[in-house]
Amino acid sequence: MVFRGKIVGTETPVSVTIEDGRITSVGEDGEASLGGADVWISPGIFDVQVNGAGGINFSSGDLTVERVLQACEWPYRAGTALFCPTVTTSPAEHAISGLRALAGACEQSKAADASFVGFHVEGPYIASEDGPRGAHPLQHTRDPDWDEFCRYQEAAEGRIRILTLAPEREGSLAFIEKAADAGVIVALGHTGASRARIREAVAAGARMSTHLGNGAHAEIPRHDNYIWEQLAADELWAGIIPDGHHLPPPVLKSFYRSKQKERLCLVSDVSSIAGLPPGVYGRSYGTDEVEIHENGKISLAGTPYLAGASLFLDHGIPNTVAYTDATLAEAVETATINPARLLGVDDRLGRVAPGMDASLTLFRWAEGQEALSVVATIVRGEVAYKASSSGAVQSRRR
Ligand SMILES: [Zn+2]
Repeated sequence: MVFRGKIVGTETPVSVTIEDGRITSVGEDGEASLGGADVWISPGIFDVQVNGAGGINFSSGDLTVERVLQACEWPYRAGTALFCPTVTTSPAEHAISGLRALAGACEQSKAADASFVGFHVEGPYIASEDGPRGAHPLQHTRDPDWDEFCRYQEAAEGRIRILTLAPEREGSLAFIEKAADAGVIVALGHTGASRARIREAVAAGARMSTHLGNGAHAEIPRHDNYIWEQLAADELWAGIIPDGHHLPPPVLKSFYRSKQKERLCLVSDVSSIAGLPPGVYGRSYGTDEVEIHENGKISLAGTPYLAGASLFLDHGIPNTVAYTDATLAEAVETATINPARLLGVDDRLGRVAPGMDASLTLFRWAEGQEALSVVATIVRGEVAYKASSSGAVQSRRR
């Protein structure tokens, strides 16, 4: 298969040839089957935080392989070729059955196996306090438990690559050391920890901040707080949600500059109800209800607390260009090569070059457009999504 377009960051259209799931050449020649002179070719957009989609929650107790594969349609349509399905705070049996279904999807579907670069477990070892806890159900938050986490990892067949926890929970520091030794990226999030505790967590091996600036108190001391400490910690990568609701534009711009682009990953944190119409929805676990507002914001019903997002990175990338001084190529890097580096898979993902996996996003976009217009999403050489020329959607059924 040959794609024609401009590689993001360059000006001249090229032909990208793929065979057996790999990019074999990038050059001038080739009869293109997809793309065109006005199409951008990007490494596959990679989102390390996707909680579900279309009403399918990766943390529900009734997740099946079939529903996991159904949920993939939404990210693929938005140009997201690669992601970390994220299992959030829930009863252990729900998390374990969710992780089993996700692992089962990787076994049954080549697309899922290629797309799910690793699983992200966010919670349950997070703050119980209102504010830092965000929309996670209070009754299921708890202190880190290594044996329990090992059961999670077993259910996931070793595919958990990121774990988000709050380092103030009892036993966290020893847990962080074990997880880091086991090759799991420990991310700090949903935390109200002291600055000293943040530093101790970094010394123990924490490598990332999950959706920095969110999952936090509404009000904190202006200088002595966990956000500045994480922002200034060069050891920590930061995930940020560029949907325009979670971080006001000047905050996003400041975070972007502070982390110097190289240690920043755009994440959607898209909720399982993303894609559904405005209204109040019950959760498939606990008793909390969430509301989708007309403007796309999702909150815990009756509270000001955000409960995940509804916009994928096809919106997040243009927002980053609009709110910061990033070029399109720089914004794309924070959603492609950066997460690949964070997860240690940049030898095969994150660049359009011979020898790399053929996971690509083809799109049209011009300055000022609020979303990328996705032409096709390619997952390890297979067309996972292709827009029809009429603008209506077509997607491959698995
Ligand atoms: Zn969160």
